[in-house]
Amino acid sequence: MDFSKQKKGTTAIWAGETERFFQGATTPPIINSVTYAYDDLDEWYDVATGKASGFIYSRNTNPTVHVFEEKVRILEGAEAATSFSTGMAAISNTLFALLGPGKRVVSLKDTYGGASRLFLDFLPSYNVNVTLSDTTDHDQLEAEIAKGCDLVYLETPTNPTLKIVDIKRLATAAKNVGAVVVVDNTFATPINQNPLQLGADLVVHSATKFLCGHSDAMGGVLAGKAELVEKVFRFREINGASLQADPAYMIARGMKTLELRIERQNASALKIAQFLKAHPNVNDVFYPGLETHLGHDIAKSQMSGFGGMMSFSLNGTYDDVKKFLPKLQLVHLAASLGSVSTLAGPPRTTSHVELTEAQRAQLGIPESLIRYSVGIENVEDLITDLDNALRGL
Ligand SMILES: *Cc1c(COP(=O)(O)O)cnc(C)c1O
Repeated sequence: MDFSKQKKGTTAIWAGETERFFQGATTPPIINSVTYAYDDLDEWYDVATGKASGFIYSRNTNPTVHVFEEKVRILEGAEAATSFSTGMAAISNTLFALLGPGKRVVSLKDTYGGASRLFLDFLPSYNVNVTLSDTTDHDQLEAEIAKGCDLVYLETPTNPTLKIVDIKRLATAAKNVGAVVVVDNTFATPINQNPLQLGADLVVHSATKFLCGHSDAMGGVLAGKAELVEKVFRFREINGASLQADPAYMIARGMKTLELRIERQNASALKIAQFLKAHPNVNDVFYPGLETHLGHDIAKSQMSGFGGMMSFSLNGTYDDVKKFLPKLQLVHLAASLGSVSTLAGPPRTTSHVELTEAQRAQLGIPESLIRYSVGIENVEDLITDLDNALRGL
C-alpha cells in the first residue's frame, strides 16, 4: 500500500497490517514466542546477520512489536523506528546511545520530569556536558546551540504549562553546528505534529499516553533517520529495555482510533479552554489553541491541532485545589495523561512533586495549577462537571 497517498487516520489502521497474518487472521496475532526456528541453517545465518528479513529473538525484534513500530514510523514520515518497554526507556536509550564522555547536549528547563532527571543526575556522571536553557527564550537557545553541541533535545508542548518551542528554528540552529535534534512528541502525537518534517532527526514518544490511549499498556518508540535509529536499536538490544508483544498489541490496537480520538480531544480541549478562560473563579488557562497563549503563533505554524492537554490555575491557593478537584465527577485524580477518560491532578503531586514550591514558582508553575487531560467523553458533560465544581468554590 502506498501510504504517501493515504491520510493519517487510514495509515494508523493499515500500517504494519497490509500482509496476510497467520491463517489469514485479519488482526495481528500476539506472538509471545521468545525465539524463532529455522530448518535451513543458511537462511538462519542470513537472518541473524541482517542479510534477510526475519526474526531471531524477541529481545531484538518481534512480529507483533513490528506492527506497532510500522504504524509510528509511517505516521511520523520516518525512515526507521524502534520501540522500548516505556517512554523513559526510549528517551534514556536514545540519550545514552548517542551521547558519551565529552559530548554536549542542549535542552530545556521544562522537559518531562524523567528526562530532567537524566539531564541533571545521570548524564553528568558520565561526563556529558548538559545545558538546560529557558524553554521559551529562543535567542538564548540559539546562542547555546551555536556554542557547539552534539545533541539538541526538545519537547513541545511542554508539561504542565504547555509552552511551545519552535522546532524549525532550533533545528536550523542545530544543523549549523552538526547536532542531532531529538523531539519528544508525546503531547502532540503524530496526528497534530510531525517534528521530522520540521527538521528534527529523531522523534520519541511515550506510547503509554495518547498512542495507546486507554491507560492500560506502557511503551515507548523512537522514529527518524535510519542510521541514528539503528545506533539506538543496537544499544537497546543489549540494554534489554524491549517492548513485549502483549503491550505492543494493545498500543497498536489503540492506535487504530488515534485520529478519531485526537480530533475529538482537540475540539473538546479548545471548548473547555474557552469556557475556563471566561470563568471568574479561574485565574489563567494554559492551552496553545487560545490566541492569548504565548506560544500560539508558533503552535499554529507547526501543529495541525492543539491537543488534548491543558492546565489552568484557580483564583486561589492550593487549599482551593484541594476543595475543587474532589468535586469533579468525570475525572480520575491520577498521574499520566492521554487516555479516553479525563484525568486531572496538580503538578504539586504529579509531574513536579520532587520540586520545592520556590522551584515550581521559578518554572512558572503556580500552586493553584491543575493539569487536565481531556478524554473523549461528551464535551458538554465535561463542561457541566467543571462548572459545578467551580461553582462550589
Ligand atoms: C509520560 C511521559 C514520558 C515518559 O513515558 P513513560 O511511558 O511513563 O516512561 C516522557 N515524556 C512525556 C512528555 C511524557 O508525558
